[in-house]
Amino acid sequence: MNSFQFNVIGTIQSPYKQKFAIPRQPGLIPEARGKLVLSPPYADYDIVRGIESFSHLWLVFVFHETASKGWSPLVRPPRLGGNARKGVFATRATFRPNPIGLSVVKLDRVYKNQDKLVLELSGIDLLDGTPILDIKPYLPYADALPDAMGGFADSAPETLMTVSFSEQARDFCQAQTAYPDLALLISKVLKQDPRPSYKKQRTAEQQYGMTLYQFNIKWTVNGEHNHVTEISQLSEFNDGCSQ
Ligand code: SAH
Repeated sequence: MNSFQFNVIGTIQSPYKQKFAIPRQPGLIPEARGKLVLSPPYADYDIVRGIESFSHLWLVFVFHETASKGWSPLVRPPRLGGNARKGVFATRATFRPNPIGLSVVKLDRVYKNQDKLVLELSGIDLLDGTPILDIKPYLPYADALPDAMGGFADSAPETLMTVSFSEQARDFCQAQTAYPDLALLISKVLKQDPRPSYKKQRTAEQQYGMTLYQFNIKWTVNGEHNHVTEISQLSEFNDGCSQ
């Protein structure tokens, strides 16, 4: 048998509403909080009995947003400036023969909400709506390998960019009492420089926008500096992430 079918066991609710600006790996931004929502028949406490004793979990998921775009044997890792090509199996690229992703995330809380079982997570690098195939506890004795070699991605990407907020943006964040980490999340996302590699060479001031939670965030980039100009609330939004 060389073809298998899997069931989606749950779905991610994430502040990241589009691929743009999601960090390259989990754990880089601890303020990125999300929920894994399990529905019946996977929503019974029994299915996670004992899970609270683990601080971190592995999530196996589907790159659902890009799955239909196929794959290629060679990809251009953003870590190498988008120019050098590496074999897809030598990278964590999304365009893989089987569009399966793997992320280690922090488990903060487990609770039941009507017929759903909810796992609160942080440090996620997952798009809102990501289908989850499996959960496995992170085992430090087996999974943490401090002497391992990280190839061309041996350490976390450097975050050299600076970030400032306009008065409007600062006040807006302060008013969002349900999202106490909003300014920190925005600032950490921008410090990672989410721009595609080819735009990083540009010298003239550029304008960008992204959605986090139900907020539309606009900023400008000038050299190594991001300035958050304006934040507004998206009108129609079904917020699955607020407390
Ligand atoms: N930690 C995972 C993901 C690495 S690729 C792994 O190693 O397999 C990281 C990128 O995946 C992010 O920049 C984000 O844009 C993308 N991503 C996250 N969730 C996705 C989804 N559901 N569909 C497609 N791309 C997704």
